[in-house]
Amino acid sequence: MAGTGIESQMENASCLVTGGAGFIGSHLCQILLEKGYLVYCLDNLLTGNISNIKPLEKNLSFRFFKTDITKDKWLRYFNNKKVNYIYHLASPASPPQYRRYSIETLLVNSLGTYNLLQLSKASGSRFLLASTSEVYGDPQEHPQKESYFGFVNPVGIRACYDESKRFAEAITMEYYRKYKLDIRIIRIFNTYGPNMQVTDGRVISNFITQAISGQSLTIYGSGRQTRSFCYVSDMVGGLIKAMEVKQTTGKILNLGNPEEVTIRNLADLILVLTGSSSKIVKLNKRFQDDPEKRKPDITLAKKLLGFHPQISLNEGLKISIDYFRNL
Ligand code: NAD
Ligand code: UDP
Repeated sequence: MAGTGIESQMENASCLVTGGAGFIGSHLCQILLEKGYLVYCLDNLLTGNISNIKPLEKNLSFRFFKTDITKDKWLRYFNNKKVNYIYHLASPASPPQYRRYSIETLLVNSLGTYNLLQLSKASGSRFLLASTSEVYGDPQEHPQKESYFGFVNPVGIRACYDESKRFAEAITMEYYRKYKLDIRIIRIFNTYGPNMQVTDGRVISNFITQAISGQSLTIYGSGRQTRSFCYVSDMVGGLIKAMEVKQTTGKILNLGNPEEVTIRNLADLILVLTGSSSKIVKLNKRFQDDPEKRKPDITLAKKLLGFHPQISLNEGLKISIDYFRNL
């Protein structure tokens, strides 16, 4: 597509998606297949679920490998294969999950990222790192721009995630500088939607499952802390654009929906949308260093990708509520 900055898709171009059986990864695999790519999905099912990719297995262009990307055995399979695009999403993302799997989280973001960068170097693949707004820690700048270095406790209980993602960013930038790899780093802000696990432990899946089963909604801390929630289809659209648009090479980009809400207001909204009579209970803060506020500055993504989230929190919650009701 001359002039659009988006390259025309090669016949049978292939994408490797790590964490492809997870929440965001499964949606990404689905859209990449719809776009005509050959998709290699790598996942060890640590926090993902095979049911997320069951519908994709009918598609002949979909290949699933149950493998741990921190090991290097799987790399041999790709020795003589061309991989055009690598989307590196493998990593626990929910705070209770990365606490439970703290060492696995450190390793997948360090060793796992290293293995994927080595493959990208050998295969000449474009590389996208799924990083996180957690690299900003409990931010002192609001909203958060990509230029902000963050306010992170390097030895706190969230550090297994924050610091390993910061390491992943650092090694990815080093492969860009040293080996001229075609990389981009995407800092994903809170994302939600179908295919989140009921037991995931993040706030939206918790509140919805609590509301529809008549349990009390658990607010950790004051409820005045804020987050900005992005519906998964907007996120996946942004990730694919970020990979395909040439001007993103070597760039760091925030992706998310800047619609900011307090956790208390989120609980109230979910009670209204589910028509639930569940109560709200206030509990102690769940984890030390819980960010007080979080909202992406997406000026750069708007400029480079034309990224404008389409799905409002109301709309996205309604779809998610239907999904959890039908499980
Ligand atoms: P998820 O837990 O649903 O998916 C992660 C997937 O990675 C899982 O399927 C898991 O089994 C797999 N995985 C973990 N370790 C692995 C390993 N060693 N080898 C192979 N597979 C492994 O989480 P998600 O919400 O889909 O997040 C996907 C990515 O996006 C993560 O990198 C996360 O840090 C990032 N992210 C997500 C959010 C969000 O709100 N969902 C926010 C910021 C960043
Ligand atoms: N939270 C909550 N109740 C829950 C789950 C989470 O009050 O049942 C709070 C959590 O303490 C945090 C915010 O909601 O302040 C977002 O938490 P989540 O686990 O979704 O992700 P985070 O943005 O912290 O990575």
